[in-house]
Amino acid sequence: MSRTDKLTRKVSQRARDLVDRGLDRHIRLAVTGLSGAGKTALLTGMLEQLLYANDNPTLPYLNVHSQQRLHGVRLVPSPNWSVARFDYEAAINALTSEPSNWPQSTRDVAEIRVEINYKPSRGLASKLSDSRRLTLDLVDYPGEWLLDLPMLDQDYNDWSQQQSRLARQPLRSDIFADWHQRVENSIRNNDDIDKTLRRLANDYQQQLQRCKNEFGLYFLQPGRHLLPGELAGAPALDFFPWPSHLTMPESWRPVLESKYRYYQDKVIKPFYKEYFQNYNRQVVLVDVLSALQAGENALAELKLALNELMKSFDYGHNSLLKRLVAPQIDKVALVAAKADHVAPPQHANMRQLLAQLMQQSSQQLSFERIQYQLFATAGVAVSQSGERPDGTLVLDGYDDTGERVRIKAPQVPATWPSSQQWQQGFAYPRFHPHFSSGQSPLPHIRLDQLLEFLLGDKLR
Ligand code: GDP
Repeated sequence: MSRTDKLTRKVSQRARDLVDRGLDRHIRLAVTGLSGAGKTALLTGMLEQLLYANDNPTLPYLNVHSQQRLHGVRLVPSPNWSVARFDYEAAINALTSEPSNWPQSTRDVAEIRVEINYKPSRGLASKLSDSRRLTLDLVDYPGEWLLDLPMLDQDYNDWSQQQSRLARQPLRSDIFADWHQRVENSIRNNDDIDKTLRRLANDYQQQLQRCKNEFGLYFLQPGRHLLPGELAGAPALDFFPWPSHLTMPESWRPVLESKYRYYQDKVIKPFYKEYFQNYNRQVVLVDVLSALQAGENALAELKLALNELMKSFDYGHNSLLKRLVAPQIDKVALVAAKADHVAPPQHANMRQLLAQLMQQSSQQLSFERIQYQLFATAGVAVSQSGERPDGTLVLDGYDDTGERVRIKAPQVPATWPSSQQWQQGFAYPRFHPHFSSGQSPLPHIRLDQLLEFLLGDKLR
């Protein structure tokens, strides 16, 4: 195909997309959550259930399917050529190869398009036509990037002060002690500014990674230090918040301030403008179980981070967002992930705990008239629940050596745990996937309910 032909095809595809959106036949559904929340697994699971919907007995709550109106679902190329395609095939390959593995986690924005062909059930459409098409774009992006939004309202000085206050908190002050020392030494050394700032920024980035990976902290900025995406190694990331107890060399200030402004203008704002404004449905995925296991500090941080992240949906109160994007999100699913780590009777507790963590955000959503619902799901369920003769609930699965294991199903608190519960601590299993090649669709928990909430109204 010639370049002109390709371009014409792309332009006409865009025009078709606009018409479809006008006719309510196009949904851009974004999935976000902090890293490790389970976005890749969830998207893979959603695609699996849709693509293998025919003869799939595990989708009773997806009405278009249970009413036998679903003709078929297929992957189609996305016209958005500048964004990586979500690698569904690689994810399935990882999950179903020998030995099975979890797929590569989200590191950047990725998207994938499916076309859903169905029979309309109501209105004129059902009389005129036997078949209708809904185009669904599924977009995956790191929640860490949403945590950068408040930075747009702060200058470098405000941000540094706020981060310094955070860095004085008990756990963080230990983590950052050595880094502070290194900043102090660098001031004295009088080395080349660019080199020094780059080294300190790299070092700061490593401390943020430690905060996340070793200590389970969540409210970490800037988000691109954790998940740089296409900015990995770029000079745009050579900045860090200035520790307020140290005096900054005058020659460093203009460099740090301009890097910070660059990050605001060329990284944060474009993300909101290019991606955020085009979504109309959103999943916010949360791994409450890992936070419970990591302890009280981690759960408190998760709550803080989620409420900061959800400010991206607070259009009414956030004049900055209003100016930046014309948001269109009308439905948000708040989803507690990895529900297969516990037995089904505990799922209601997972949802309730999530509701408590996100109470403030849910009020914002109601204020914006954004419809929201809470779910407990597993994108890819790797355990089966069962019951011993004595009534004890158990989970069966495989460990990372491929051995079959059975454990007593753990409990989830429905509300913020008591000090006694924290003392006892929480422990959840880490089952390993164990699927065979060609095994589709993979098992899930409640993805049909989630899909019905997100797509059902457009598939009537
Ligand atoms: P992402 O960073 O949000 O893309 O997270 P992933 O989807 O890569 O998930 C991170 C890890 O969480 C995986 O490697 C799995 O260990 C675990 N995980 C994710 N989803 C599920 C699930 O549905 N069930 C179980 N048991 N584990 C999951």
